[in-house]
Amino acid sequence: MVGPRVVVIGAGVVGAALADELSARGWDDITVVDQGPLPATGGSSSHAPGLVFQTNASKGMTQLARYTVDKLCSLDLDGHPCFLQVGGLEVATTPERLAELYRRHGWITAWGVEAHVLDADETVRRHSLLDRDAVLGGLYVPTDGLAKAVRAVDAQIRRARRRGVVFLARHEVLDIRTEGDRVTAVITDQGELPAEVVVCCAGIWGPKVARMAGMNLPLTPLAHQLAWTGQVPALAGQTAEAVRPILRHQDADLYLRERYDTLGVGYYGHRPMPLRVEEIATVDEAEVMPSVTPFTEDDFADAWTATRALLPATREAKIEEGINGLFSFTPDNMPLLGESPDVAGFWVAEAVWVTHSAGVGRAMAEWLVDGYCSSFDVHEFDVNRFEPHHLAPDYVLARDCQNYVEVYDIIHPLQPMEDPRPLRVSPFHTRQRELGAFFLEAGGWERPHWYEANSALLAGREIVTPNAWAARYWSPIVAAEAQATRESVALYDMTPLKRVEVTGPGAAAFLQRLTTGDVDKSVGSVTYCLLLDVDGGIRSDITVARLGRDEFQVGVNGNLDLDWFRRHLPADHSVTVRDITAGTCCVGVWGPRARDLVQPLTGADFSNTGFRYFRAKKAFVGTVPVTALRLSYVGELGWELYTTADLGLKLWDTLWEAGQRFEIVAGGRGAFTSLRLEKGYRSFGADMTYEHDPYEAGLGFAVKLAKDDFVGRDALLRRRESVGRKLTCLTVDDPVAVVMGKEPVYDGTACVGYVTSAAYGYTIGKGIAYAWLPGELSVPGRAVDIGYFDSRVPAVVAAEPLFDPAMERLRA
Ligand SMILES: Cc1cc2nc3c(=O)[nH]c(=O)nc-3n(C[C@H](O)[C@H](O)[C@H](O)COP(=O)(O)OP(=O)(O)OC[C@H]3O[C@@H](n4cnc5c(N)ncnc54)[C@H](O)[C@@H]3O)c2cc1C
Repeated sequence: MVGPRVVVIGAGVVGAALADELSARGWDDITVVDQGPLPATGGSSSHAPGLVFQTNASKGMTQLARYTVDKLCSLDLDGHPCFLQVGGLEVATTPERLAELYRRHGWITAWGVEAHVLDADETVRRHSLLDRDAVLGGLYVPTDGLAKAVRAVDAQIRRARRRGVVFLARHEVLDIRTEGDRVTAVITDQGELPAEVVVCCAGIWGPKVARMAGMNLPLTPLAHQLAWTGQVPALAGQTAEAVRPILRHQDADLYLRERYDTLGVGYYGHRPMPLRVEEIATVDEAEVMPSVTPFTEDDFADAWTATRALLPATREAKIEEGINGLFSFTPDNMPLLGESPDVAGFWVAEAVWVTHSAGVGRAMAEWLVDGYCSSFDVHEFDVNRFEPHHLAPDYVLARDCQNYVEVYDIIHPLQPMEDPRPLRVSPFHTRQRELGAFFLEAGGWERPHWYEANSALLAGREIVTPNAWAARYWSPIVAAEAQATRESVALYDMTPLKRVEVTGPGAAAFLQRLTTGDVDKSVGSVTYCLLLDVDGGIRSDITVARLGRDEFQVGVNGNLDLDWFRRHLPADHSVTVRDITAGTCCVGVWGPRARDLVQPLTGADFSNTGFRYFRAKKAFVGTVPVTALRLSYVGELGWELYTTADLGLKLWDTLWEAGQRFEIVAGGRGAFTSLRLEKGYRSFGADMTYEHDPYEAGLGFAVKLAKDDFVGRDALLRRRESVGRKLTCLTVDDPVAVVMGKEPVYDGTACVGYVTSAAYGYTIGKGIAYAWLPGELSVPGRAVDIGYFDSRVPAVVAAEPLFDPAMERLRA
């Protein structure tokens, strides 16, 4: 036998793709069960109209879609294609939407898919039913089109069957059997199926099936309206299923496709209609199929009005049929992929559109067979990314419904969720409010972006206001806070940064094995290093502080790091990993006057020789016990001071009071990001992800190849020989067009890379954009252009860091 005994639950477009991909990799004991008939099971795939638009803000999502398109284009069922590549057209009827289409054009170009923004005439030439007077332009993606979902399911089932995969229709899964923390079998209404690996591809039923394995899946089935017209006279006689591009009219929450001489119209503008999984009809009870609920005509009225306005030819047609079809939404609009944190062998592939289905099938197959995913960066999709509050049923319902409402909205990169808020606040929150903090939200935390109380700092400073888009969620105070940090001293609330405690006799060896750094150093050492996957890709960048022989405090990026640690814990219980974020807090005290502020407050030696850069110490600041780490993300002298949550306010007040004589300020995230980029500090998730290795990301210094073996080391030895692309620092002279990330970078007319993080550098007086570029272009002085809406912004490759390259301020 090759591979473990696998049971896949669900033979929709995801389960079928997974069976195909797993069997293609040689696994030979795979059973797929579905409660419905095959291949139209009654799940969401059975009625999906199959529009595939590849454009997405997420590079990973576009890559999943791209693979899906390529795969379905190569598949047929008895000579009938599984994909109709008619192209995709998103239309603009307002100037704001046209600008947004340019932004979307930037993303898809950056992710390597051909796309064009068309003027109004060309848009109407592509889709002759559009009203020329209504349209301002369109985003055209030639490789988009229509997936024939049931056909694709059937074709992939047939191929998998030929490789020995067993498909069992009309088998309802009733329970998942586990022994200890491992999955052992799937119980169906027709008997038990032993299994070492179970993959839940149950679509809208996912939460119910996951619960059988004790897993809480943050997913809500929502009803979504899809209607079909009768004959549209202008289409009469059309013999091909579709010839015109699929359409999106996002300002009216609409999408449209042809079906011979009729049109399908999908609508997101209606009230959210969530359903509890228990309320979904069974296969036998369902009138049409379980994932279809009755069409509520009134909810569709505005959709039909907007359709007739955009496509005058439909005024002579009628809506003849419609459904409220069910599919899955999640709190961050991303799929849920990966293995349960508690039950080994229980995996999920949930909340996946047809658009991404084949890509997800491949990603999951690689992950299962190889232990990691080589074709796609899955960090945004990993089901273990959520914080505990993200799994609260009320949170999930509120976010999933709101995501439905906002599916086609223009969302600014900094736009925070509105509800439910506030959720998590640091102990400094009261003081932050008193200082007039403008809060944005991340990971549930309320995070000050700037403080109105700092408006007095504006006097005498010349600060250029960026354009209206970049100036949303911005204030000139951001600039003043950044400059004040470099001039005196500032407090930054670092509480939201996740931290874990790693303790026990095996702790040092455990961290040596999992990280790229040499962390087995003296007590008091602090090490910046990386977590790698076995393929050498960066999973995270972390800071490891050794606080005792067997005690480490590790600053990590999120729940995925905690999950990674837990998965690698030695079986001998010699290591304990504990998330201490909620019970503790952290303030960054940074700036040239930081020592002048802190030293008089403590009996410990905070001098340059007594407390060196990248060292840690336990001390008292006033009456507050702290763990102090001498490091700084803003590139200034100072410390991160950690204490327990109960003493946080006292710590803030102590520093604040003593800091008055240095004109101390509170600094927000806006200033923080600007200062971070001036100093060239990378941010995981934006600047580098699983697909990048340390050498291309400019983090080779954090890899100690000379130490004993660590996860990813072998792969790194190979990868360092072939560094092709480089994370590159660009500067931009234009102070108004402040790029914000994900914009394409051009060399002449060719797109050669994309921006990761960007901000204006208020010390250096230039815009800063980090970007992935081919190595040969990553040469200081090289000119490139950044695609910015409908224009190009000139940029120049710069040597980094842009600020204090000699590290004089940090080591002062
Ligand atoms: C009206 C509508 C329009 C849509 N339009 C598009 C579109 O244009 N483009 C796009 O990309 N996506 C679209 N979608 C979304 C898309 O249809 C779904 O996201 C996708 O089909 C989900 O595939 P799946 O395989 O995960 O789920 P499903 O197709 O629902 O498959 C899950 C399977 O699991 C089985 N199952 C569940 N529980 C059990 C159990 N206990 N025992 C055994 N079997 C079980 C079910 O019977 C089902 O066959 C649309 C959805 C709707 C509702």
